[in-house]
Amino acid sequence: MVAARKKDDGARAHEIVQALSAAHPDARFELDFETPLELLVALILAAQFRDDRVNQITPPLFARYRTAHDWAAADPAELEQQLRAVNFYRQKTKAVQRCCSELVSRFGGVVPESLDDLLTLPHVGRKTANVLRANAFGAPAIGVDRHVARLAQRIGFTRKTDPDEIEHDLTKAVRPDDRIRFCHLLQWHGRRVCLAREPRCAVCVVQPLCDFGRSSARTARAGAASKRTTTAGRNPTTAKPRAGRAAPRTDAGAIGTAVRRNEKAKATRAQTGRSTSRPPR
Ligand code: SF4
Repeated sequence: MVAARKKDDGARAHEIVQALSAAHPDARFELDFETPLELLVALILAAQFRDDRVNQITPPLFARYRTAHDWAAADPAELEQQLRAVNFYRQKTKAVQRCCSELVSRFGGVVPESLDDLLTLPHVGRKTANVLRANAFGAPAIGVDRHVARLAQRIGFTRKTDPDEIEHDLTKAVRPDDRIRFCHLLQWHGRRVCLAREPRCAVCVVQPLCDFGRSSARTARAGAASKRTTTAGRNPTTAKPRAGRAAPRTDAGAIGTAVRRNEKAKATRAQTGRSTSRPPR
């Protein structure tokens, strides 16, 4: 694990990139593509859907539809059938075709590189535009998906919940040359360790650099210390009596009392000449 230190956000983000790179040497952007157009289509199909499932269906589609014009001119019913494995396939078929029609009519079929131009395309929001710019054009852009948002909040780079505001905070915090890798690693880590339902802080390599991780470690230590104290208080061999209460009786003490009680009963029987266990008839 990396050492815990107070750092400015840029240095902290850089150290997180290094720690996560070492922990996840295979981490990469998970959608398969070769051109900006393929990535744009894949991103539309991947909305609220799994990247690996998109990767399963795109190779034959990318082989068949090679240009924005090919996508825009495809028979909608046929394309719908080809996208059936994707959630919301009817809406996504329309989205891909509308977006590609705009590319053809306004950008000569070429995917633009600038954020402002991308944002004019239908079904392209800031996340899609930034992910596309980073991965297709190498721009130092931060695409805030649910994993990036969740980890940025937990680690402590932002307190915002709005994706655009989170992007703003991360853009201030993360150095330009770390941004692309930072996003890949947060997505990868978020799917495997920092899960939405329950983060696995105990096995997380960035725990010393993470606000949530440090806080949960403190809580766990305090809980363990409290448990030890409580257990010690209940230990009959070590506990001190609390004010106003009798000292807890050890097993040996209880046995001794029982023996004394038995001997006293025997002495009484010997004096009276009769058993105390049965009343005389
Ligand atoms: S320490 Fe916990 S909350 Fe922080 S990044 Fe790791 S798993 Fe997520």
